[in-house]
Amino acid sequence: MEHDFPVLIVGGGPAGLVTALLLAQSGVPSLLVERHTSTSIHPRARGLNLRTMEIFRSLGLEKQIQQAGASLADNHLMLFVETLAGREIRRVPDADLLPVGKELEAITPCTWCQCAQDELEPILLAAAREKGAHIQFHTELQMLTYHAHGIEATVLDTTTGQQRTIHTRYLIAADGAHSQVRQQLGLAMQGRAGLGNFINIYFRADLRDLVCDRPFGICFVENEALEGVLLPVNNTDRWLLNVEYAPERGAQATDCSPARCQELVRAAIGRPELELEVLSVLLWEAAARVAEQMQVGNIFLVGDAAHTMPPAGGFGMNTAIQDAHNLAWKLAMVIEGEAGAGLLDTYAAERYPLACAVVKQATRELEAETPDTPGTPGDLLTSILGYSYASSAIMEQRHDESARCIAGLAAAGRPGTRASHVWLTYRDQRISTLDLFGRHFVLLPGALGGAWRGAAHTVAERMRLKLAVYQVGIDFTFPGGDESWHASCGITAQGALLVRPDGFVCWRSSDLAPKPEQLLTELFQHILSRGPCV
Ligand SMILES: Cc1cc2nc3c(=O)[nH]c(=O)nc-3n(C[C@H](O)[C@H](O)[C@H](O)COP(=O)(O)OP(=O)(O)OC[C@H]3O[C@@H](n4cnc5c(N)ncnc54)[C@H](O)[C@@H]3O)c2cc1C
Repeated sequence: MEHDFPVLIVGGGPAGLVTALLLAQSGVPSLLVERHTSTSIHPRARGLNLRTMEIFRSLGLEKQIQQAGASLADNHLMLFVETLAGREIRRVPDADLLPVGKELEAITPCTWCQCAQDELEPILLAAAREKGAHIQFHTELQMLTYHAHGIEATVLDTTTGQQRTIHTRYLIAADGAHSQVRQQLGLAMQGRAGLGNFINIYFRADLRDLVCDRPFGICFVENEALEGVLLPVNNTDRWLLNVEYAPERGAQATDCSPARCQELVRAAIGRPELELEVLSVLLWEAAARVAEQMQVGNIFLVGDAAHTMPPAGGFGMNTAIQDAHNLAWKLAMVIEGEAGAGLLDTYAAERYPLACAVVKQATRELEAETPDTPGTPGDLLTSILGYSYASSAIMEQRHDESARCIAGLAAAGRPGTRASHVWLTYRDQRISTLDLFGRHFVLLPGALGGAWRGAAHTVAERMRLKLAVYQVGIDFTFPGGDESWHASCGITAQGALLVRPDGFVCWRSSDLAPKPEQLLTELFQHILSRGPCV
């Protein structure tokens, strides 16, 4: 079958857009179809966690996204009130809950960022298009057939009503929580649904005088009329109010009429005469569920299509983006002929256990998050930066089942974990180790590991692989000295560390091997599912 595009992405939310962007960056053509006429108009997610910001840093988008979220950069309070205009119950600074400042700088080059989804998506869209991704709005996937030769997708142009068929080799289902692709594949969602039904009201009102010197990231409101959460979108005149409603106790969708929404907002603000405009309203159900499979043949589920999680901890969009980041480089290497198809199986092998762990963590956060007992950081940071993969794309010297998913932040250099961040001097610039990763495999030999360097160049050429080598003392210096660099990687001066394009350590040798060339050849054959002749 001739393919119109090697990859078809269904859904233009964060997961789909990041997949399109990453594939385009690797030179792989893709077509993204999105049924709406534009990116999201409702600012659902706002919190970008540290790992997501690291991904945006590697894409060169960190600053632009920080600027887009600049109006929320100083919103560091968790507030508890009866109404915004009324009695304040208490306030908790973010710094009491999350690492900031020097503590943060020691673990990541990035910072927490709040950027509303309706501002983030246009940035991702522009970047994906600039790199050459094909993106079509008002195009809805209607039907899917798949067989050994490829996938046929029937799509509808929602403006003209015309149908057409797209032939593709790989399909990415980034079509959200109600994924049609997932339903067509007959995949069930496993876990807990019905964790609450919510009305999310996006409204315009000037609240500056009421916020005053209390710039909050989240404000819990509890009074006789409602229990809800107030969230800033631009900190001046655009806000979100999230209120639970109970269909099981007779609440109707009509209870979300503009008049009722205005009433709810006024009750939360504590100003019956407040002037406001309801911009959009979203009804949603909190659930903690993961699809029974994240891959069926050449079809991959990413983001909310694969897992839905309660809002506590702000994991939904972040996990969606991180799914895309895990999958895109593998897909690109397989399509480019640098890896065997087996590499693609490691997507679900790595992301499924992680999705289950994150869903569990978000549920724990939700259950702890009441006005009296706000969610505590607990192992929040570990869930964000300290998770670990186990698959054939990771060579673990010691297989430790208990550490399979959450490895902790102290696991520096351990295969399966994110390569740790430390500050380096490279070409007279202060950069993070993470700035070395993103496009290719990277080998980091120790100061006396020159043999690895030579072997890596030979193997890369012979296997036609893109492999960069950075050796401490030669290509960069570590301010703490070579020895502490080796310690931070868990190797000796003769050892080496191999990092995948997604910044995860996939192998390390604490010492020199007798035949480094042979070892590296076999290593890449294994990790990339390549037979000797591929
Ligand atoms: C009120 C609210 C607040 C939230 N807050 C946070 C937060 O603070 N932090 C966080 O990380 N997450 C948050 N989330 C979750 C976050 O919004 C989602 O996890 C995120 O949008 C998932 O991205 P996605 O790309 O997987 O799916 P989506 O953003 O849902 O995108 C899916 C896209 O697919 C399109 N589509 C669907 N079917 C088809 C089809 N057949 N053909 C073509 N296109 C199709 C849809 O139109 C949509 O644009 C929140 C969610 C809600 C509802």
